[in-house]
Amino acid sequence: MCPGFLNTVINKKKLFSSLTTIILITVSALFSLSSCCNSTNDIKFLQTNKLVPLFTFVFDDGNETDYIVAKDIFKEEGEVACSAIVTDWINTNDHLTVSQLHELQNDGWEILSHTKTHPKLTTISENRINTELYQSKVVLEHLGLKVNNLVYPYNKYNDTTIKIAEKYYRSVRGGRKIRYVSISEQYQLVSYANKHTFNKIKDIIDNAYSEKQWLILFHHRIDARIKLVNKNGKYSPGENLSFEPSGAIGKFIKGNSTAMLFVPLSGTPLANDTVTGQLSGAVAHLDKVDYNDRETIIELIEYIHNNYPDMRFVTINEALDTAIASLRLPFQR
Ligand SMILES: [Zn+2]
Repeated sequence: MCPGFLNTVINKKKLFSSLTTIILITVSALFSLSSCCNSTNDIKFLQTNKLVPLFTFVFDDGNETDYIVAKDIFKEEGEVACSAIVTDWINTNDHLTVSQLHELQNDGWEILSHTKTHPKLTTISENRINTELYQSKVVLEHLGLKVNNLVYPYNKYNDTTIKIAEKYYRSVRGGRKIRYVSISEQYQLVSYANKHTFNKIKDIIDNAYSEKQWLILFHHRIDARIKLVNKNGKYSPGENLSFEPSGAIGKFIKGNSTAMLFVPLSGTPLANDTVTGQLSGAVAHLDKVDYNDRETIIELIEYIHNNYPDMRFVTINEALDTAIASLRLPFQR
């Protein structure tokens, strides 16, 4: 074999190996590029391709009603929701405990961060924003919970909060008082407040479905307000209430001689019920139900089930995953 030929073979081997290296580097660069950019691409894809109408229900502030009321509602309907947690409020009065958070997550709920102390992020220093966003995530993770997404307190945000949120979270939900709901940006997910009256949000659901959009509704504490007459005695905060003859059960929050606010635990309180405090023995006649969030939420879920069976109930993570899966489809062929 002449040396010239050997040289050519070696050079060809070197060339082949260099080419392989270049290809490998390019492929891995493309992969890392695609993973780093998913956060923005998946949203744009949902906006432009409008594949499946998605529905997400978020309970803000980590109220105990997420657990004592909503958990069973969503379980019975075979659906999931999200709970946005202020970490300094965990285990405090009327808020979720650590074990309740775990039970919700085990039921398929997504736990979201809602900062450490619930400040208006647009009014505090960049350093403090960083602490609020980072520490709330760390605390939830130390408790053994998965957390990928954030909800801005008071739905307030600006360019600085977005820049910091991008470091720690996959997405953030803001909110706007608009009747039309759709996605704008991944760090400014548009959402709408679930009002006490179902009729007010029915057309928003109709619209989201016909536009094949992702609709996010948010709610705070689940409660109910009723008008009372012939009140006798004084109800105690936190005591259980029985409603007869409807058979409904509630938990007293506060009231005066003509109105009462309570947590609707089960059943449907009706006009003409007698409301009895289980500890205080106070009684009153239920004159009129002003609103009942528990009923409204059930009505909302069943409205979607009956009218839009292909509208999927998803957590924030699942919605983002759906978008990414759709984005990658062409490459899998
Ligand atoms: Zn809040």
